[in-house]
Amino acid sequence: MSSLLVDNIGELVTNVPAAGGDGPLGLRRGVALLVEAGRVVWIGPARYAPAADRRIDAEGGAVLPGFVDSHAHLVFAGDRAAEFAARMAGEPYTGGGIRTTVGATRAASDDDLRDTVHRLRDEAMRQGTTTMEIKSGYGLTVADEARSLRIAAEVTAETTFLGAHVVPAEYAGRPDDYVGLVCGPMLTAAAPYARWVDVFCERGAFDADHTRAILTVGQAAGLGLRLHANQLGPGPGVRLGVELGAASVDHCTHLSDADVDALAGSATTTDPTVATLLPGAEFSTRSPYPDARRLLDAGVTVALATDCNPGSSYTSSMPFCVTLAVREMRMTPAEAVWAATAGGAQALRRTDVGVLRPGVRADLMILDAPSHLHLAYRPGVPLVRQVLHNGVPQCRL
Ligand SMILES: [Zn+2]
Repeated sequence: MSSLLVDNIGELVTNVPAAGGDGPLGLRRGVALLVEAGRVVWIGPARYAPAADRRIDAEGGAVLPGFVDSHAHLVFAGDRAAEFAARMAGEPYTGGGIRTTVGATRAASDDDLRDTVHRLRDEAMRQGTTTMEIKSGYGLTVADEARSLRIAAEVTAETTFLGAHVVPAEYAGRPDDYVGLVCGPMLTAAAPYARWVDVFCERGAFDADHTRAILTVGQAAGLGLRLHANQLGPGPGVRLGVELGAASVDHCTHLSDADVDALAGSATTTDPTVATLLPGAEFSTRSPYPDARRLLDAGVTVALATDCNPGSSYTSSMPFCVTLAVREMRMTPAEAVWAATAGGAQALRRTDVGVLRPGVRADLMILDAPSHLHLAYRPGVPLVRQVLHNGVPQCRL
């Protein structure tokens, strides 16, 4: 069995404080890491490192768990750069542009959609993302939602059925009929390719009754729950997500005290509802950022993700999100790095990624920098030198 030793590590972020590492990131120095069969099998003092078939010299760079991007919309066609330009010139963001992408996505071939998914997945990987959730939601017909998920499932196990992204134009004024379609034939066609079900619970999208109906039948079909909630204004989404046991409620930009209390209460349970913050969306729509400090100080489990999509956040870069979280949302660099790795893993209810300890998947990145602090300290600089995914180096050595 081929083994691979990563040594000359400047700083190892384990996210395992209990194993003797410093702080919430479980930082360790002077250690090496051994990979076999796609798993981490040993971490210990470099001078005791076992012999290995191959070696990667980290050259004093920091080694971190790969980023876990728990919120992305990659199955789409078309371009909305002009909409972005108009917004930067002063037009408000309403979410209505989703229908533009729906039209282009329905008209696209499978191969066109596949090319975009693979291109963006590769782009994210080069920036350190080793686990990526991918949603449907730009097909909004039975056949187009099913094919979106089938294509997403080619590159990730974390696929999410988002038939309830927006009510499509052909159902205008008949949201009950559309929700009936989502809960019936669309869910049946989508479920074989999906791990999760998601709803855009927002004024102008789906209300609390529709959201509850869709999540309930999705759960009965064996899917885990996640939610777009409280992005554009206050609403019932966050509390509904906590009540129904969603793995994550995403955006969380407009929260009441009751919303924060519900999330904090859930954080002490065995299956908490994570608050996933998506600062790329606020950046790209020039909107106020979520109050990360309020959530962290209340004890809520916080994740960071890209929300990569062609309308409101066309970035695949987790380092960019870490930078925004630190600079604009007052998260410490350690909190932001944890949220982008271990936090994302919790938002996907995964224990085999987002941490580095023996037994987990060998998903990690090596930085051209001595510590995790540089991710926010050097904004916009491509610091990820090497990525291991399932133990396989992704960049040319
Ligand atoms: Zn989204």
